[in-house]
Amino acid sequence: MKLFYYLPEIVCVAALAAVLVFGLFFVRDLFRKKKGESSCIYCKAAAAKISQYPYLFLIPVSFGETYAEPEKYLLSHMRPIAGKEQIPTGMRACYVEVYSCTGCDKKHVVVKDFLRVRGEDHIKEIHEFAYEPFRPLLEAWEETNQVQEKRNQAL
Ligand SMILES: [Zn+2]
Repeated sequence: MKLFYYLPEIVCVAALAAVLVFGLFFVRDLFRKKKGESSCIYCKAAAAKISQYPYLFLIPVSFGETYAEPEKYLLSHMRPIAGKEQIPTGMRACYVEVYSCTGCDKKHVVVKDFLRVRGEDHIKEIHEFAYEPFRPLLEAWEETNQVQEKRNQAL
């Protein structure tokens, strides 16, 4: 059997092709992240940022602490804040960005968990989640900040 004879080569070529394809996906992902774009979590097509606000939330976690089950933890612990000046020293906060896919039209969020040290943001973790579970939090943020804006105008 000729095919059997060439089997090691065939396996090698297939493995190489797989590595190449995954490598390309990986590099494309990295490239998009650098440009401030994101890949769709559903279909991997390019997703564009559509959030208009710098959604900022406080996370009751300090310095290098970690949390298990990020989505569950963040959904129940994130608190909307208006600006970085409201972050207590040593506490973590996060930005939430909303992206919309150019391929399948679905939305997802990117949560950037960071620690502010001497005026600089040090990203601790970056998570990507479905949009829907985070929508109430984003709406709560908008509400809090609109209320504050009105209060500022009244003063
Ligand atoms: Zn998509």
